[in-house]
Amino acid sequence: MNGRTDPEHIAISKSKGIKIDWKDRHASDYGITYLRDKCPCAVCTGAHGTPPRQPEAEVPASPFQMYKPALKMLDVEPVGNYAIRIHWSDGHSTGIYSWEHLRDICPCAECQGRE
Ligand SMILES: [Zn+2]
Ligand SMILES: [Zn+2]
Repeated sequence: MNGRTDPEHIAISKSKGIKIDWKDRHASDYGITYLRDKCPCAVCTGAHGTPPRQPEAEVPASPFQMYKPALKMLDVEPVGNYAIRIHWSDGHSTGIYSWEHLRDICPCAECQGRE
């Protein structure tokens, strides 16, 4: 255990996103739409043969989306001691965000440039 996937401190803003300070001294700052787009559940990732969900920014305009309320987190609940489940204002709540997944999707330049 090097602390890479152990959160030291988590700050949740239901309208802005989540910030996590990791035990290895790394800090991650996830925006709302970024987190929603990175939902790891089968529906959003296209597992089981369903088409993957379009990223938030690329959803084509349709007559039913003339007005789209700003996405929010309604609730964030802990799942065991390894993950959180986010309830979204669009009704979605099946995504379980493990610490490992969250660390993997850290949007900072350092992490995004590592591959
Ligand atoms: Zn999902
Ligand atoms: Zn990072």
